[in-house]
Amino acid sequence: MLDQQAHLGLPQTASSQGLAPALALNADFRPLSYFPLSLWSWQDTVKAVFLDRVTIISEYDTAIRSPSMTMRLPSVIALKDYVQQSRFPAFTRFNVFLRDRFTCQYCLKGFPAQELTFDHVIPRSRGGRTTWKNVVAACGRCNLQKANKLPEQCGMIPRIKPDQPSTWQLQENGRRYPPNHLHHSWRDYLYWDSELKPDQGQDQSWPDEFRLSDDQLNKVFQS
Ligand SMILES: [Zn+2]
Repeated sequence: MLDQQAHLGLPQTASSQGLAPALALNADFRPLSYFPLSLWSWQDTVKAVFLDRVTIISEYDTAIRSPSMTMRLPSVIALKDYVQQSRFPAFTRFNVFLRDRFTCQYCLKGFPAQELTFDHVIPRSRGGRTTWKNVVAACGRCNLQKANKLPEQCGMIPRIKPDQPSTWQLQENGRRYPPNHLHHSWRDYLYWDSELKPDQGQDQSWPDEFRLSDDQLNKVFQS
């Protein structure tokens, strides 16, 4: 089964991030981000633990072992200091697609990000601007069909009235697209359980032990 987040254009899965990433939570125990899901590499995680910036909430069975230390890798961590999220997200192609839930606003079909385009509701040739309020996600076919016409002219009206979303709204939309690999220890901090399919959320199998030299370990802390 395709990883939903990867499928939509963001290869942010546990497997692509290497060994045992940790789910990173804000100090209020919500994920720092849903889409892409805030997953930290074990290197960033271990460093943050030693800098006393995070609390370990849950651990993997997998341990890193060097001649001088052994440590089980955290699977869930929470920041000690709350990070204020900006209220309004950046105006980017991807955030427009996320606002519109990867759905063409004219034919209402869903598409992966790479198959979606922008459509200017009021065409640029008619003075329409490239802003949250005038840009919607559209498939290539509908975009071509609408071309330089005004919505009333061609009867192509976007399903939603485009507007600037709040960060909260985008996160809400992002929750609909869980990555395929969810470690069981992450589940309590995500709200997807009712939407998870039976084959979703299977644990990745990591080796029990990950050996490295003290030199290699030092590099992690110095990076
Ligand atoms: Zn379409």
